[in-house]
Amino acid sequence: MNRRKILSELLREMWRSTPSTRAKLEAMQARRIEKALDFFRSNTAYFAALGDVPLGQLPRMNKQVMMDHFDELNSAGISKSTAFELARRAERSRDFSPEWNGVTVGLSSGTSGNAGLFLANDGDKARYAAAVARKLLWPLMRKRGLRPSRRSWPLRAALLFRSDSPLYQSTNSPLVKLRFIDITAADFPQTDDLAAFDPHVILGPPAALELLAQTAAHRLQPERVFSVAEVLEDDVRGRLQRAFKVPVIHQLYQCTEGFLGSTCEHGTLHLHEDMVHIEKSWLNGSSSTVAAPGRRYHPVITDFTRRTQAIVRYELNDILVEGPPCPCGSLFSAVAKIEGRSDDVFELHAANGGVVRLFPDQIRNTLLVASSTPTNFLVEQVGPTSIRISLKLDPSNKAANTQASNRVHQAFQNLLAGRGVRNPSIEPAPWTNPGLERKQRRIVNRMTRKPEPNQTERAPLELTEIT
Ligand SMILES: [Zn+2]
Repeated sequence: MNRRKILSELLREMWRSTPSTRAKLEAMQARRIEKALDFFRSNTAYFAALGDVPLGQLPRMNKQVMMDHFDELNSAGISKSTAFELARRAERSRDFSPEWNGVTVGLSSGTSGNAGLFLANDGDKARYAAAVARKLLWPLMRKRGLRPSRRSWPLRAALLFRSDSPLYQSTNSPLVKLRFIDITAADFPQTDDLAAFDPHVILGPPAALELLAQTAAHRLQPERVFSVAEVLEDDVRGRLQRAFKVPVIHQLYQCTEGFLGSTCEHGTLHLHEDMVHIEKSWLNGSSSTVAAPGRRYHPVITDFTRRTQAIVRYELNDILVEGPPCPCGSLFSAVAKIEGRSDDVFELHAANGGVVRLFPDQIRNTLLVASSTPTNFLVEQVGPTSIRISLKLDPSNKAANTQASNRVHQAFQNLLAGRGVRNPSIEPAPWTNPGLERKQRRIVNRMTRKPEPNQTERAPLELTEIT
């Protein structure tokens, strides 16, 4: 890693001014996209072959295209087999510092059964570190002030992740210390260690944060708690706020495809449109392109800050819900929520021969309205007209549990019959704890998801695969 290069690039990014109007933001995006496309046309076989066409006319890509054309889509000249070999060796050894000619290689979690690869050179890492500093650390430092306080510098952040990455370590400096906490380790949450580190900031998937909250919240005083990698459900959000005594649980929307969004002081998730250009591919079958609060879309992203891997018009499977304008006044699009992934929309056979589609939020709401007794749940589509429901219940109260199970069963019976599903079948299943090795999901369509490989998968940039 070339520290001098990283530092100079980091300073350049830190001092880049933020546009003052939406029009200026879009003009800045256009300039930087053109620069990125020029680079990819000269340095990748894929874009060289497509020629000099504007962004809107380039074909969309997705994870499959990225993996099928991996060799032609990266500017580092690294082959897919070499990258996989390096990344898997790092997984096995738990030493997450493999580099190939100065390029960091990581394996992304493949929740849908196909693992992806992540590449970052020194410039990419510097721009990432600058973005973390600008968006996450600087607001916190500004709020705390730079005067000495009871809790001394440096600013300490505990990362509760499944894997470490040199990418995170590039953010370490005399002002900021990061500590990687392996949530797959048998001794997680390593409470004594964490309490001694005394983090100002804690980041992790909601399930890991909940486990930490239950065992160690009283020994920690985080000023900010960030949820990453999985959908943050409202009930979990409430429990985390109370346990950590913080007014907002912040969210990071980050994935192998980019650092896509983070929450402002109001707790609203904003897309990072100063780093990525986001087209909204509207769902719900409407052809209207007008953004309106409540509409669902897939983000189609073009990352104009990265150079090693071309992320250009890359459609993610995540279902985002457009939010109303945020009182913070940010120019960046507000996201009301990340609902889940399109692979997990239930598609059930209707009595009239059609298809009944149920979005994750409808399924989640049906359950939560039926009963607040379960502390966790899993609803799966397991057949063309069948769903399976597992509830996590407190074994000490059998009567309440029976009532909760009956209510939930009846609510889904009503939902499916009401929507016209042909002879719906609802199976109860015993609750099994999912563990922290995998991403946790509450709504899963087993009909569309490929079986998950046995090997535990970990991401260098851990986030999306928001599911
Ligand atoms: Zn805001």
